[in-house]
Amino acid sequence: MSGYRPYQYIERRKSRQIHVGKVAVGGDAPISIQTMTNTLTSDAKATIEQIRRAELAGVDIVRVSCPDEESTAALAEIVHEVNVPIVADIHFHYKRAIEAAKAGAACLRINPGNIGSAERVREVVNAAKDHNCSIRIGVNAGSLEKHLLEKYGEPNPDALVESALEHAKILQDHDFHEFKISVKASDVFLAVAAYQQLAEACDHPLHIGITEAGSRRAGTVKSSIGLGNLLWAGVGDTMRVSLSAEPEEEVLVGWDILKSLGLRHRGVKIISCPSCARQGFNVIQTVQTLEDRLAHIKTPLTLSIIGCVVNGPGEALMTDLGVTGGGSGRHMVYSAGKQDHTVPSGSMIDHVVDLVEQRVALIEAEAAKEKAEGVEPALPDLETVK
Ligand code: SF4
Repeated sequence: MSGYRPYQYIERRKSRQIHVGKVAVGGDAPISIQTMTNTLTSDAKATIEQIRRAELAGVDIVRVSCPDEESTAALAEIVHEVNVPIVADIHFHYKRAIEAAKAGAACLRINPGNIGSAERVREVVNAAKDHNCSIRIGVNAGSLEKHLLEKYGEPNPDALVESALEHAKILQDHDFHEFKISVKASDVFLAVAAYQQLAEACDHPLHIGITEAGSRRAGTVKSSIGLGNLLWAGVGDTMRVSLSAEPEEEVLVGWDILKSLGLRHRGVKIISCPSCARQGFNVIQTVQTLEDRLAHIKTPLTLSIIGCVVNGPGEALMTDLGVTGGGSGRHMVYSAGKQDHTVPSGSMIDHVVDLVEQRVALIEAEAAKEKAEGVEPALPDLETVK
């Protein structure tokens, strides 16, 4: 394999580092992936189950809405039963914020300018300080403050950034600095321009997202354009892909965006061809089945599934394992770019799953041995590539 590693040219913006529970956000921390539950938070059991599904998909941080007292009452149980830090989403009601902080939320999503009197702001900030909570200032083009709409006439990047910095100043005036900021919009141009402007204007960590992006397919495309653009420019410390789809879908799309940019790696990355009349096996079905059967793998590994020799050997050179469709229902299996053996169509999927699992077991055993011996890993930890 060549030493060409294009993602190393993504230079991340230098931001302050804060913590959302055990997850570092900003600085040189890996870009974390978030999602949000859509169950009733007061239904702790359903919410916990949904968070666990997101955990399996690889989520780092989960946000839950806390619109009422029943929700903050359920929060303690939820926080206790899951492995990821929980962000409590609060709108306006300062008492919910204080209850959430006491219940163990790792972060409060609340805009200090919307809390009300100075005394209420102080109470919320003190609760956050006392309970080790960070805060996310979440500015949204759809709910900009009236005075900014009057000043700018519309939600534009200047208005979003001014709103964010006004909220930030309130926290700074209370000597509170553990916060990150988002300036979301459903319009991809507006969101990207606002984030770019904010990234220039401050060094706070940024939570990036294209809000209300849409359905699973359209929202994925829109988010990939918006978030991809920002991440490629080095902007973004934590992210959420907002889809009208289940939270675990958002997490998987988030991972695919980061993997595509080489910013983080997790699980099996399948390189596959679109297939055509030359395919030696049904590429589309094979890839779909393999994606499901290999979803449990966390160790980064690349696998090429290519329908014929036109592109198969070339892709196999750049992947850990590869299969290239051949004639008469037999296909070539590659290991580290070299032809290894053939496999018939009927047993190909089981065989590839076995090979991947065996390779992952080897990688993990080697890593554990090297760790025990205190050996520096030969490859950089890809999760920390900036
Ligand atoms: S690799 Fe072969 S099967 Fe796949 S699209 Fe190209 S020519 Fe068709």
